[in-house]
Amino acid sequence: MPSHISHALLVEDLLGAAGGEIGFDTKNPPESTIAHITADPRARSIAVLGAQGPDLFLHNHRRKPRGFRYGALLHRHGNADLLESLALSAAREDPETARATIAYSIGYITHIHLDRVCHPYINWSAGWRGTPDRDMDRPAMHPFLERCIDSVFLMHARGQDVPDFDFYGRLPERGVDLFALRRNIVAALQTALRSAPDDSRIERRIANAFADAYGFYRNTNAPTDDYFREARARERRGTVHHRWLSLVHPPSELVSVDVLNLDRRTWAHPCDESRQSDWSFLELYREALTRSIATVRLFLARVHEPELPASGEALAASVGPWNLNDGITQDPPCRRTYCDPLPLLELYHEIKSFYDHS
Ligand SMILES: [Zn+2]
Repeated sequence: MPSHISHALLVEDLLGAAGGEIGFDTKNPPESTIAHITADPRARSIAVLGAQGPDLFLHNHRRKPRGFRYGALLHRHGNADLLESLALSAAREDPETARATIAYSIGYITHIHLDRVCHPYINWSAGWRGTPDRDMDRPAMHPFLERCIDSVFLMHARGQDVPDFDFYGRLPERGVDLFALRRNIVAALQTALRSAPDDSRIERRIANAFADAYGFYRNTNAPTDDYFREARARERRGTVHHRWLSLVHPPSELVSVDVLNLDRRTWAHPCDESRQSDWSFLELYREALTRSIATVRLFLARVHEPELPASGEALAASVGPWNLNDGITQDPPCRRTYCDPLPLLELYHEIKSFYDHS
């Protein structure tokens, strides 16, 4: 998964894609919904929340009962059924809840496609636990690379530094009532995942996951130089985990490695070395946007025509059954074997020591 800023940018770009070569026809009845969501700040913020996809549940570390496992499961399967359920809920709801459910779903669709398209590149470029070495920080290189990509891509695409983007400020305000939306998400989870219908505490879990995710996003939002210096000092005192840097966006100017692959280094799928590419992150992102627009069109058509089985089949085919971790197989994900990591461990230590001396 790219990290939360890239996911937010993709849904914002999608909502902005009215007209043009791959955009929406906002005069066409189902697609006109896009213009309404874009014009409604509450719906836009819900779309940014939806764009965090199942990662939202993965941030549920503190409050119990936890919804964490739904995050892991949805990275493996169930997303076509989940979106079908959300579309049918939106079709029966009052206009305000329908709009919130559609906005959330549009964001969620972009998450699916960006995860699938980018994960092979990220795994190839970061390695994973024990591969290609046993360095204790190797497992942290995956989230660290994702944060580096966020920072550099944000500067590339919008000319902004992370603190100026204010990711947390883009989410629905805490006072915004998400109860009806959460109810639809719970119903969708119960449709999509075999274990969910027996979970009597599922509503509490989902509410806890939202609350913990908000806490995580707030605590890591807009980090300043003082934040980094303090974190480094706390690391030395042993009061923060030494991998803290893998969860905070470094300033883009400190990322001296070509994390976007602008130099077009050849990379391959970690499960299949014959699937090679020299695509940069910009091309991967563009591909995810194109796929997302196609799926969102079919999602809106499904909300518009819930009685037509063909619209459900078309949506399911467009979402596809592939898992979000490798994008080419279903469940279980394929076995990762090949990688050729960027010098991320060196960069990671370089950034840490920068804040010892600045
Ligand atoms: Zn994800």
